[in-house]
Amino acid sequence: MTTWVLQVACDVPVTVSATGVFDYAPIECETQDCVLSLSQPSLWIGRAVLVPFGKQSVVGIVVGVAESTDVPEGKLKQIRAVLPFVPPLDDNGLELIRFMSRYYQRGLGEVALPALPMVVRNGKTLTVEEASPVARLSKGMRTWQKWQKMPRTPAPVVMGRELTLTAAQELVLSSLLNQLEDDSRDLRPQLLFGVTGSGKTEIYLQYLAQILQIDPQAQVLILVPEINLTPQLAARLNARFGAEAVVTLHSGLTESTRLMNWWRASNGQARVVLGTRLSVLTTLPHLRAIVVDEEHDSSYRQQEGVRYSARDVAIYRAHQLNIPIVLGSATPSLETWHNAQTGRYGLHRLSERAVTGASLPEVILVDVQKTAAQDGLSEPLRRLMSESMAQHNTTLLFQNRRGYAPVLYCGHCGHMHDCSNCAAHLVYHHTTRHLHCHHCGVQARVPKVCVKCGNADMRPIGQGTQRIEETVARIWPNAIVRRIDADSTRNKGELEHALADIAAGVADVVIGTQMLAKGHDWPNLNTVGVLDVDSGLFAQDYRAPERLFALLQQVIGRAGRGQTAGRVLIQTAFPEHPMWTQLRSHDFETFANDELAVRQQLGLPPFAAHALLHVAAPELKNAMLFAQKARELALALIDTQIAFTQVTVNAAVPMNMMRLNRQERAQVLIECPSRPRLQQFLTQWQAALVEQKSRLMWLIDVDPAEI
Ligand code: ADP
Ligand code: ZN
Repeated sequence: MTTWVLQVACDVPVTVSATGVFDYAPIECETQDCVLSLSQPSLWIGRAVLVPFGKQSVVGIVVGVAESTDVPEGKLKQIRAVLPFVPPLDDNGLELIRFMSRYYQRGLGEVALPALPMVVRNGKTLTVEEASPVARLSKGMRTWQKWQKMPRTPAPVVMGRELTLTAAQELVLSSLLNQLEDDSRDLRPQLLFGVTGSGKTEIYLQYLAQILQIDPQAQVLILVPEINLTPQLAARLNARFGAEAVVTLHSGLTESTRLMNWWRASNGQARVVLGTRLSVLTTLPHLRAIVVDEEHDSSYRQQEGVRYSARDVAIYRAHQLNIPIVLGSATPSLETWHNAQTGRYGLHRLSERAVTGASLPEVILVDVQKTAAQDGLSEPLRRLMSESMAQHNTTLLFQNRRGYAPVLYCGHCGHMHDCSNCAAHLVYHHTTRHLHCHHCGVQARVPKVCVKCGNADMRPIGQGTQRIEETVARIWPNAIVRRIDADSTRNKGELEHALADIAAGVADVVIGTQMLAKGHDWPNLNTVGVLDVDSGLFAQDYRAPERLFALLQQVIGRAGRGQTAGRVLIQTAFPEHPMWTQLRSHDFETFANDELAVRQQLGLPPFAAHALLHVAAPELKNAMLFAQKARELALALIDTQIAFTQVTVNAAVPMNMMRLNRQERAQVLIECPSRPRLQQFLTQWQAALVEQKSRLMWLIDVDPAEI
């Protein structure tokens, strides 16, 4: 009988268990490096283990050991096995998940386990022979065993040829490198604010090369917002550092590749790790530097499970390890910009494009109220497109919505066809001739007559990408067109194909949604048409202008990256809007400073911190009742504790997108000028909410993306 217990964090919601940590008795287990015995408790910490949980077995992480337990004698269960090949979380790794758990108000297991590849997390790689005190391996472990024989020494970096930096790049690189010198060691996050095409990526590469060369074990982590940005950058990294040294980590990989890459990264073998948001939590034993590319991108926010910002976690991780972190963007988030303005972050500017002769494109506005846009394309845009095709250049038509035409609308009574599950219009898809809900995925047939008034004149309104594709095909029957959106690239490999075609200069016209806006570098692209983005000028969300500006700046940045001058034509019904002036002069700084002044006046982030309680229930009444109860509990906390006087509790209200997936949703917004105070408050508030033992779905979203 052992005299101590393992404290195991499991992936259960806080509404089930406030800590998510459960006690188990250890059994002797073998791992690839050592035997975990009953006499050495400390060796167990950070290990992934398989434990009985209710009727199932789940994988958890040992976050501590204790000499006693509250579990009554005889009730304490034994773990089933250790996952022998999963490298243990070290002290820093454990501290990182503790930080996230505190900051985002979630259990340790909820934070830590999603970072493991699926096959590891569901424990399928293990079977346990009940009779044996030592866990035995299943057949599925053969791969693991094969890998076990592979070298686990750091892969060598084979340096490829570097570009000769421009004077501006040289200046930034040397100031970044200077900051690593021992006597002036300045490890504030460094913002690299450089216009699109200014050669930020080249700077990251040369900067990281230095770090990799100084230390033969060093690992570096490069975060990118989206999977579709990884192939191009991965190719560049492979060419620069040697394919042996580089791995990618994102959800588009097959499970076995992901497992292999994760394994190589977490054993310290891979030297350069390129990944999307989840990779920020990967164990990297020799991590020496982090780069967050397109740091402003909202894809860094995890929107399911634990809602965290991978950029913010990366900043914390760098701070914790005392290593440098570089944030890059042409349109930094206003949080980051504010930090750079106040000196909390270092700031480096690149205001010119790197390629000689390449300049920022000219931006032209077309007032679509004066110049009719037939089938979505105005006369001036058509002219530019014809010209561009004649010169064998590529035109990008940017459209924010996918689908043939967003909504079906009755020309007689004005009735819109809405989803029966969600507060959203159904979207008409030409290829399937069905109506689809873009929120819950429901499909419906197109009705022959209006369900409300019986009128047969049903019209699609708005312009989707498919409809634009048809218009282009009609006007230029011989044009080679590539459409890139979530519908056209659903099948594996389709996106890669289309992108390769575009990169090779095959396409005359590229039509796409925001998937296309980011990161790509196509020298042939000289003309961009921006269609129908006006709704973004008048959205409710306080972050809408920031997002639209960033998105359009990115789109604009696609043009004229090679030797041909670029031009961008924006079709708008509101040519007087001030945002256009700042976009036309590529003046992010004025835009950002104006926006920040407004935010300060209104007490919005980054001048205050927000948290949002989400409640979902089949009936709005019940969601609202719980939200109101939660609000009362919050007000009671504020009344009784002087520390919380700065906390503001807003009214319980139905959410903007109220009905989603047959659930009605309500919210309560909490505001506080001090982050630590907000955190303390949320911990107590959450405990009070758990005590309600409500069966409704609810969660607290810290730093919510939208309010
Ligand atoms: P960003 O990341 O800022 O958008 P990139 O690093 O991708 O910019 O560079 C944009 C283009 O300029 C790429 O085609 C790249 O190869 C080229 N480039 C970058 N730096 C240089 C340089 N010093 N000399 C020549 N070309 C360069
Ligand atoms: Zn729906």
